[in-house]
Amino acid sequence: MNQVDYLRISLVDRCNFRCHYCMPEGAELDYILKQNLLTNEELLILIKEVFIPVGFTRFRLTGGEPLLRPHVVELVKRIASLPETQDLSMTTNGFLLAPIAQDLYNAGLRRINISLDSLEEDTFNQIIGNRGRSKWRQVWDGIQAAYNVGFDPLKLNVVVIPGVNDHEVLDLAALTLDKQWHVRFIEFMPVGNGDLFGNKGWVASEELRQQIRARWGLTESQVRGNGPADVFQIPGAKGTLGFISQMSECFCDKCNRVRLSADGWLRPCLLNETGQIDLKTALRSGISITKLREQLQELLTVKSEINFKQRYSGTATGNYSRTMSQIGG
Ligand code: SAM
Repeated sequence: MNQVDYLRISLVDRCNFRCHYCMPEGAELDYILKQNLLTNEELLILIKEVFIPVGFTRFRLTGGEPLLRPHVVELVKRIASLPETQDLSMTTNGFLLAPIAQDLYNAGLRRINISLDSLEEDTFNQIIGNRGRSKWRQVWDGIQAAYNVGFDPLKLNVVVIPGVNDHEVLDLAALTLDKQWHVRFIEFMPVGNGDLFGNKGWVASEELRQQIRARWGLTESQVRGNGPADVFQIPGAKGTLGFISQMSECFCDKCNRVRLSADGWLRPCLLNETGQIDLKTALRSGISITKLREQLQELLTVKSEINFKQRYSGTATGNYSRTMSQIGG
């Protein structure tokens, strides 16, 4: 078991996109009420006084859409400036990124993952559930802005969905040829979206690698912060290709992370809902910091046993009550 030192923090469960695999229809009915969101002060108390003393040094801001969180630049600055923070990153859909990319960088954010499931406007709009003006161009501008500002590594996350965007795998992989962009193909997961998943919604990473290998060849590679991704490179390319294969492979034994939701639930494993603990209620009820640290330590002690190693074992009812957008991906 790896040391668990990486916390993914969901800043808000709302999103300006409605990707079907992440936020299925109807999920918006359950948005967290404002008073139940962890405030910046509460979040910083948890990071500084609970997570860091227990050994956490790496943080990722996610959501929902993290750029919808008011004063997100200020929050980035405060987390980045903690002496113990060794790594701070963000996962965003990029739609609101262009105008604040430089501010985020100046505040101390150095690396960023941007979701980009398609290079085709129509496919993109279909995936993100967009019915109005196309949003693809603004996302693309956000990616360019992040690149120009100097985020490194700059990763592009692609969830591959059979029959929807799997015909674009080579085009997306080609983005790594001339630019130092790191494209990561993610197997689609059945979290809070069982209906979509009914008919095997994922493509095994090895199938994608075969396509890419046949076109250009593929060698093993590395990139900073690769976590569970297997990283490869097209020979001579500037960027890399990552494959996150949580459906076709089990990488629980390499897992180094836990997840904090915007309303303060700490989840030991993406796919384990039953092992969560409610840090916000504990904090607001005045429980001592020592006790909170003990709760966290206890959760880390049992994490390897409650990691989701068999599909469909991580919930009490067989269905996940939280969607990926509520957990933070
Ligand atoms: N709004 C941001 C974004 O779009 O990147 C951050 C939140 S999103 C939940 C974080 C990541 O989770 C994204 O890269 C998204 O593609 C991924 N994700 C969401 N639902 C997924 C699913 N069902 N299977 C695999 N990945 C998923």
